Amino acid sequence: MLFRNKCTACDFWTIFELKTEGEKAFQVCTHCMAQTAVANDSQLEARIRDGEKDVQALAGHFPALSRLQERGDHVKL
Ligand SMILES: [Zn+2]
Repeated sequence: MLFRNKCTACDFWTIFELKTEGEKAFQVCTHCMAQTAVANDSQLEARIRDGEKDVQALAGHFPALSRLQERGDHVKL
């Protein structure tokens, strides 16, 4: 599952991949490969969908966010 967010490690807006390993979940920045543990609960996918809605709203002000399509894409606002 891919989604857009701002990476606190490289400070770019980029594509993240959600990975699960057993009971654990991680979001991985596809630009700098920084990996962050996230809570793997029943709300995980809902939180990601909500976050994606926020990014879509933000893209109205910052069209550069719309260019984030593929793994490794990254922009600085
Ligand atoms: Zn990063």
